[in-house]
Amino acid sequence: MDFRLGEAAEDVRRQARQFLEQHLTDEVKEKMHTTGVHHDWDFHRALSERGWVAPGWPVELGGQGYSVVEGLVMQEEFHQAGAPTYGVGTTMIVAGIIRRLGTPAQKELVIPRALRGEIIIVLGFTEPECGSVVVAAQTRAVRDGDEWVINGSKMFTTNAQEGDYAFMLTRTDPDAPKHKGLTTFLVPLRQPGVEIRPIRTLSGERTNLTFYTDVRVEDGLRIGEVDGGWDVMAVGLSLERAGAQGGESSRMLAALERWACTTPEGGSAPPASDPRVRARLGRAAAENEVSTLLARRSGWVQDSGALPGVEGSMAKLFASEAITRQSADLLDMLGPDGMRSEGDPTALAGGAAEYAYRFALGTTTYGGTSEVQRNIIAQRGLGLPRPR
Ligand SMILES: Cc1cc2nc3c(=O)[nH]c(=O)nc-3n(C[C@H](O)[C@H](O)[C@H](O)COP(=O)(O)OP(=O)(O)OC[C@H]3O[C@@H](n4cnc5c(N)ncnc54)[C@H](O)[C@@H]3O)c2cc1C
Repeated sequence: MDFRLGEAAEDVRRQARQFLEQHLTDEVKEKMHTTGVHHDWDFHRALSERGWVAPGWPVELGGQGYSVVEGLVMQEEFHQAGAPTYGVGTTMIVAGIIRRLGTPAQKELVIPRALRGEIIIVLGFTEPECGSVVVAAQTRAVRDGDEWVINGSKMFTTNAQEGDYAFMLTRTDPDAPKHKGLTTFLVPLRQPGVEIRPIRTLSGERTNLTFYTDVRVEDGLRIGEVDGGWDVMAVGLSLERAGAQGGESSRMLAALERWACTTPEGGSAPPASDPRVRARLGRAAAENEVSTLLARRSGWVQDSGALPGVEGSMAKLFASEAITRQSADLLDMLGPDGMRSEGDPTALAGGAAEYAYRFALGTTTYGGTSEVQRNIIAQRGLGLPRPR
């Protein structure tokens, strides 16, 4: 494997940086910080005007036809800058599912609007009583002529307050074995019976608890076969895992590098002159490199037309656990002043390690917890038997 990126990818990196300079304004960052919402419609529209909602998709579908490496380089820049990309991320997971498994009418309804930046699609898998075991979903969908009626609740429906549709896992046959009675739908969110209650996580991110009372969805918005939702979910979950990578740790490391190279007021040398500081930063840099390469490997698998299974799980597991380890280690290195938050002018390294420490815990949870990823790697990668 050739790990060099090449001139075309480096050119994409330059363009991405220019775009971020123009559109990731202090105002956008401040809004994300205060609201905890990692989606911004102005930023999103600018992305779509630039043709970057799905840069790796073919030009005829509204993408740029970028190679996977070019797309990943762009993603690295966006993640590292902390751009508000959750909305585009979940939307393109679902657009990817529809591209593979949707009907022609669904493709026509969703794909052009998603790529033009007009709609946001959120993920409605997790429920208050089940997350890792998504197959235990209880939200009911009952057929009523050409429509389905949905009742239930979903937990952690991130960006539901911005969303046009939720890609939702429902139970359609409560008597069938668990994984055989599930069906997936694209549920329009702006309709009576949908209630969205905000939840704030430890890092200040906004997500939601959502309730569905007699919510109607036409049969044309059913994705896949009736009771065939588990097959659709397999595609969705592997696309979700494949999208995860360690941009937040690169951002933290960049802030810590700046801190390490600056001599503090009244000091005689920058912190980087201390070998213990260099050792910790060096360890974090090596881990970030592994996270980046695992994400690229997962991208290469996608580029070859396959779905990243074990590769996506490894990338997600490593990146999320690496930032958890690093943020604790670097916060410890900074000492008490490292605990001041972003926005406080006295915060060391702009509060980057403190924020990453709080943010990291969520990354080991969403998209499947670390335990779930290890089970997948053990089973599908190593061929070990299923856990009891
Ligand atoms: C910030 C954030 C945003 C999120 N956004 C979304 C979203 O947009 N849409 C959505 O649908 N969901 C979302 N989630 C939900 C996330 O996917 C779930 O939280 C996750 O799948 C875990 O489910 P759970 O919370 O029910 O925990 P549980 O499944 O109850 O797990 C509890 C603990 O048990 C462990 N465990 C469970 N099963 C096993 C097993 N078989 N073997 C070993 N250990 C096990 C888990 O690893 C975990 O440590 C989000 C979560 C967070 C934190």
